[in-house]
Amino acid sequence: MSGLRSVLVVGGAGYIGSHMVKALLEAGYEATVFDNLSAGHRDAILGGHFVQGDLADLGTLEALFAAGSFDAVMNFAGSIQVGESVRKPGLYYRNNVANTLNLLEAMVRHDVRHLVFSSTAAIFGEPAYLPIDEAHPAQPLNPYGRGKLMVEQMLADFDRAHGLKSACLRYFNAAGADPAGRIGERHEPETHLIPIALEVALGKRRELSVYGDDYDTPDGTCIRDYIHVDDLCQAHLRALESLRNTGRSLAVNLGNGQGFSVRQVVDAVREVTGHAVPLRIEPRRPGDPARLIADSRAARQQLGWVPRYPDLGDIVGHAWQFASIQARSRAENRSKTGSSA
Ligand code: UDP
Repeated sequence: MSGLRSVLVVGGAGYIGSHMVKALLEAGYEATVFDNLSAGHRDAILGGHFVQGDLADLGTLEALFAAGSFDAVMNFAGSIQVGESVRKPGLYYRNNVANTLNLLEAMVRHDVRHLVFSSTAAIFGEPAYLPIDEAHPAQPLNPYGRGKLMVEQMLADFDRAHGLKSACLRYFNAAGADPAGRIGERHEPETHLIPIALEVALGKRRELSVYGDDYDTPDGTCIRDYIHVDDLCQAHLRALESLRNTGRSLAVNLGNGQGFSVRQVVDAVREVTGHAVPLRIEPRRPGDPARLIADSRAARQQLGWVPRYPDLGDIVGHAWQFASIQARSRAENRSKTGSSA
């Protein structure tokens, strides 16, 4: 068991954050969730202590650190849509950069010296080569990626000046859900491929828009590296242990190292669900590179991390289980409300 026992999980009510809280509790850590619930869900927090608040609110943040005694912080809070970041850069620099700076300064004031930070493959921009390793040039194409890169650069400065050690984990495409079906992906609005394809399978949407089938890939659709959310969280646990054991900051890319096209994902959804998924071919989505695939050897070698669910069928299967449970409970709630009306 690690010596880092008490972890503050900022954004712990969101998709990845809630799976992280589960993983921390299962590994014997204490978890405190700090979330403003703007995108997260209170019922996604499976345990630990919950404080509702916003990183922009310096008074609440100060009280949080004064009341708790945290050994480490994980930051999952932030805005996550590339297209929105182009339309509303101020929102992204405020939520993802300025608010993270508030967090870093509070950590320094309260002598909390370990941070695991949710970074992204979007810091790299258009791939110069594949798979993308840690030496790949970082030339983000949008405010979302630029903001995440700015935080990585701030973290290097905070390490030099204050000894704040950080692990920057560059996520490729987080997907899947808790294999026990308790938590999963619930974005509003949903923009991600797998949950949208599952909504089509459930009959909640008529068809799936495929953003371009004329890319230079074998079937013409974009290729992405889908990584199971539980595997992602296990990598965070390893990163936390590495900070403690080595006392050194690190930055690694996190993916499966395997790419799947949009059509391959849709085929997996059809196979897992047994339902039709009608497609509508649409124009390309601006800013989508044809292929994004991680070279995750550094994470494997430095952290001893091995993904448990590399199989696309498992990733889609767990997401489907969660989506079906959610759909059933919504239908039950509707019929209860209907009968009591
Ligand atoms: N995509 C699609 N239709 C959708 C959503 C996504 O064709 O309704 C494609 C998108 O263009 C990208 C891939 O699926 O090539 C994964 O997109 P997602 O938004 O899930 O993640 P991103 O790669 O943008 O982080």
